[in-house]
Amino acid sequence: MRRYLALVALLLLVVVAAPGAQAPAPAAAPAPKVTAIRAGRLIDPETGAVAVNQVILVEGDRIKAVGPNLPIPPGAEVIDLSRQTVLPGFVDTHTHMAITYKEIPESNIYYYTYIMDSTPLRAIQAASNALQLLAAGFTVICDVGNNANYADTALRQAIEQGWLPGPTVIPSGLIISTTGGQFTPTPEMYKQHAIVYPEYLEANTRDEIVKAVRENLLFGAKVIKICLDCKPWGYSVDDIRLFMEEAAKGGAKVHAHVQTRDGAQRAIDAGLHIISHGQQITPDQHAQMAQKGIYLASTDTPFTGYRGTAEGEQHAAEQLKSAWQKGVPITFSTDMDYWNERMKKPNGEWMDRGDLTIAFLQTWKAAGIPAKDTLKALTFTGYGAADILKDQRGPIKPGFYADIVAVNGDPLANIDALRDVQFVMRNGEVFKRNGKMTIDTLLHPGPVLGFRRR
Ligand SMILES: [Zn+2]
Repeated sequence: MRRYLALVALLLLVVVAAPGAQAPAPAAAPAPKVTAIRAGRLIDPETGAVAVNQVILVEGDRIKAVGPNLPIPPGAEVIDLSRQTVLPGFVDTHTHMAITYKEIPESNIYYYTYIMDSTPLRAIQAASNALQLLAAGFTVICDVGNNANYADTALRQAIEQGWLPGPTVIPSGLIISTTGGQFTPTPEMYKQHAIVYPEYLEANTRDEIVKAVRENLLFGAKVIKICLDCKPWGYSVDDIRLFMEEAAKGGAKVHAHVQTRDGAQRAIDAGLHIISHGQQITPDQHAQMAQKGIYLASTDTPFTGYRGTAEGEQHAAEQLKSAWQKGVPITFSTDMDYWNERMKKPNGEWMDRGDLTIAFLQTWKAAGIPAKDTLKALTFTGYGAADILKDQRGPIKPGFYADIVAVNGDPLANIDALRDVQFVMRNGEVFKRNGKMTIDTLLHPGPVLGFRRR
């Protein structure tokens, strides 16, 4: 009996001492950080309404309350933007983070960039571009292809997991196209695919379309980008509808490169989500787009000392004006994917990717789009076109992610005020303050927000 009791005592001891047998009570999660922003002027770009002397309370990564005279909770960090104009973050609905073709050595032929710059190099370029765009106030970007071997979806993953700060990236993965993509590959390239092949996922038949969409979704695409009419054979209305149907299964919309009038009509007839470029679209087609609520990303290149022509800017401005007059949901878009040695400011400093992007406002001014409508395109309409989570990201309203920027001056009086963003917050984290990046606490040696996030 004594031996039995001793055995029981020993067993109890083992059970009690076993690791995990008596886990300590979980420590209460630390209270989320609270930040109170004092906003001198707060613009709601959806309506153009301006409210003065507002307080924005941010708890963790979300906006908790907005209003005048809100009590500031004890312990909250107070950010004083009382002399500035505060507005929600900007959207570029058509850009390319992981490609930069150059005059030297590529002569601006981006097929050569595919050969010269490896996927890892281009992924690192994309990370640098992401920081530069966030610093310019772009909290959401649609990254629509020509991005090496899925460097764009990797960029999104790295930002979402918390390795580095950056905008919310809506990546497309490879552009899906009929045979040849946007290029005219040689027979050797096309048939062997053994040497560098243009970055398009080819899909000609219905089966191939379904498979291509699924492949991109599998590799992390959040939007499906198609080259609708890059070749005379292009995609039919039925093809486009199939793309939309398959993309919807993965929660994605379809974004199309459109360069011809016929292509635009097929996109409109299919009821596509967003049309890019569209420089041949007629006023009647703009009216059809407005009626169906089809977004436009017309990638309006301005004429500057480093890019474009006067005629090109004028044509882009006329097209943009027609779209605006007909009531198309117009968005701010750039197609930025190039660099040259003339991209300098008057003081000799290099322009960064943010400067180059926001410089497209010049075409909007040339088109005579009022500042209020330009700001709406750059924010509110952009959120819809980017198809970010509705009711979760975009406006400065309670419950939404805290994506907030501030500028000196009044962008409703002079839209160029947006060219010099002083403050940027994304997901409640301050990324830029007093015109300087403050990323020291936003770089991490691991996926601090979770390794499963994509
Ligand atoms: Zn493009």
